[in-house]
Amino acid sequence: MSTPNSVSLPGAEAPVVAKSDVVVVGGGPAGIAAAVSAARNGASTTLIERYPYLGGLASGGMVLLLDDMHNGTEISVRGLCMEIIDRMAARGLCVFPPDADRHPDVRESWEMWRKWSRWGTFDFHIPVTPHPIIFAAAFDPDGYKQAAMDMVGGAGVNLRLHSWFRSTLMRNGRAVGVVVQSKEGPQAILGDVVIDASGDLDVAADAGAAHADGAFIVTTVSRMGGVDTAAAERFQFEAPDEFDAIDRQAKRIIGGSWNYWWLKTPLPGVVWCNCPHMTGFDGTKVADLTAAEFEGRRRIQELLEFARAKMPGFENAHILDFAPQTGVRQARLLEGEYVVTKSDVMDRVHFADTVCRGRDYYTPYRALLPKHVDQMLVAGRHYSATSQAQKLSREIPPCMAMGEATGIAAALALEADITVRDVSPADIQKRMRAQGADPGDVPAENATITEAA
Ligand SMILES: Cc1cc2nc3c(=O)[nH]c(=O)nc-3n(C[C@H](O)[C@H](O)[C@H](O)COP(=O)(O)OP(=O)(O)OC[C@H]3O[C@@H](n4cnc5c(N)ncnc54)[C@H](O)[C@@H]3O)c2cc1C
Repeated sequence: MSTPNSVSLPGAEAPVVAKSDVVVVGGGPAGIAAAVSAARNGASTTLIERYPYLGGLASGGMVLLLDDMHNGTEISVRGLCMEIIDRMAARGLCVFPPDADRHPDVRESWEMWRKWSRWGTFDFHIPVTPHPIIFAAAFDPDGYKQAAMDMVGGAGVNLRLHSWFRSTLMRNGRAVGVVVQSKEGPQAILGDVVIDASGDLDVAADAGAAHADGAFIVTTVSRMGGVDTAAAERFQFEAPDEFDAIDRQAKRIIGGSWNYWWLKTPLPGVVWCNCPHMTGFDGTKVADLTAAEFEGRRRIQELLEFARAKMPGFENAHILDFAPQTGVRQARLLEGEYVVTKSDVMDRVHFADTVCRGRDYYTPYRALLPKHVDQMLVAGRHYSATSQAQKLSREIPPCMAMGEATGIAAALALEADITVRDVSPADIQKRMRAQGADPGDVPAENATITEAA
């Protein structure tokens, strides 16, 4: 008998296990912020996540630096992102340079560079040596998970872990809920507004929203323990030529990385390795994601052996863990009511309907709205941007800011009994400000203004 190319699935009944005003799919940075924001604004909210923890790439992907939130003179992402930083810092699980170390007179000094660069809290966009020290926060992955659980639980969000998104429920072009796959079989969660925060646009794509297939480097992030970071930094700064030669060899083994391939974490002796950079893997394909795990592990094992043998400070290093989530930076990208371009980001174009911002760029509400699908919002790294623009505007803080804005938008729509498409961006801006976030409604001096506010 020949092997069929496909098999038909029997129709399945999915019991309705929850009904709420807002359904958020994806418990990563964007989804956490969306759910907390919607709930704090009075909407009953269900948050769906496939894994047994919150945080997405920030915790499960062990991406342990909140950056892209300071524009050189001021902190540009606040709100729920700053709240999670404060909560982690209160537990000693988050480290950032204090004001005094970011003062314009000191931030380009070698002393500050030596003190902070291995935490990754510098502005690599500014091509000076040393790069200026700015506000960014190095954190512990479990610290992020716990703080997120505290915020979600405290806001009264109905959190459903262990639930894989399966399909979007649509009625007359309007999203009315989702079906998830669970150990109990399929389950339906109904809602008046659906927010896609899956990072890979699973929900909006299934609903038929226009999108592009983006791609970027993939990384299997790992942590090493047993590192004498003080000795490693001493060697770097006191024997720079020797250090450079060894570091170059390490990077050859890695086969692609940022300049600083290891950074400190709040746990003593534990560093995170934001490497290797691997190309040619599609973040939505099972075979590619599996192959990336083999390839990433192979390179890091080789790196560990080299580091133990050659790098001062790494003599007793060991692999503590590989991130449970593969580091996919970009996959599907929404083609929404507006598609943000690279020049929008680079030229700091300000939009009349800006509802949040990143480092020094602005995000219009239209980039969070799919075309032709009603009562759905999109927040996070799959927002409506070209591939080149997304590479420059996808960090954790701006994703949290997008989530915060969509949670508000959903709540405002329900309050006024209007569709999310009809919510006034000015009302979102006001609520963002009221809850301590920066909606980017006031353009900075260096912004390019093309639309009257
Ligand atoms: C290797 C790497 C290094 C990076 N470095 C930095 C850095 O230094 N600083 C920084 O700020 N940013 C960095 N980024 C970018 C940043 O991590 C992401 O852009 C950000 O986490 C995106 O947040 P998100 O909520 O949109 O998506 P994600 O973090 O991907 O979260 C999506 C969530 O949805 C869940 N989900 C997905 N599909 C489903 C489904 N079908 N059913 C149910 N749940 C689902 C996931 O489990 C996850 O919890 C890096 C990214 C990578 C990969």
